[in-house]
Amino acid sequence: MIELYVLVIRRRVLVPILLACTWLAVFGLVLAGLLPERRVIVIDPGHGGIDGGTSANGLLEKDVNLRMGHILRQVLEAHQYQVVMTRTDDSDVSHFVPEGTSRYRRDLKGRVRLVGRVRPITFISIHVNWHKDSWRRGAIVYYQEGEEESRLLAEAVQKELNLIQEVKRQVRSGDFYVLRNTDIPAVLIEIGFISNPEDRKLMQDEVYLTKQAEAIMAGLEAFLQEVRPTDRSPRGRR
Ligand SMILES: [Zn+2]
Repeated sequence: MIELYVLVIRRRVLVPILLACTWLAVFGLVLAGLLPERRVIVIDPGHGGIDGGTSANGLLEKDVNLRMGHILRQVLEAHQYQVVMTRTDDSDVSHFVPEGTSRYRRDLKGRVRLVGRVRPITFISIHVNWHKDSWRRGAIVYYQEGEEESRLLAEAVQKELNLIQEVKRQVRSGDFYVLRNTDIPAVLIEIGFISNPEDRKLMQDEVYLTKQAEAIMAGLEAFLQEVRPTDRSPRGRR
């Protein structure tokens, strides 16, 4: 009788322990399988809320940026990237930084703060260009002056974008708050000139934006294979 009692207690204790061990083993395997594949990208649709960015003929940059951000997100997620967006609707990002300085400054700081929290492998900021000479057109990829990996990423993405656009452009360096304050390969893509009628038409065309998003992803994949083999995708490994 006592033996039976001990056996019941043992079962009562052993079963949860065994279950916990099984759960830990499965969880461990999942983690081991998932962690190396954690390829998070932060997409940053520029401006938002009261900050419309540049504009022409009633078209606002902030709306183009957001639409492109969503399309790029879909394309990347379809290729097993994990995407975090700095904004998913028509609002700015200043609420991430409630204290001090101007709304504009807090907005930029908020974007950078999010990158610090998420620790992505890449940061891609989406913008639209404007120039007083309306003949200027084409997508241009910018990177932070002096950041070598970002330059390589910019060149890889520019190369792919040039394959689909009539006017071939070259990467440009500059000094951008969101790029300067992120310590990972980061680019700012001006997807076209809102001041150019043809570009303006293309940036409202979902089919073309999808082609651009695919080009951006192809550039990113090429960069990861060349420069960051540990971050490259399963697709790139084949
Ligand atoms: Zn902008």
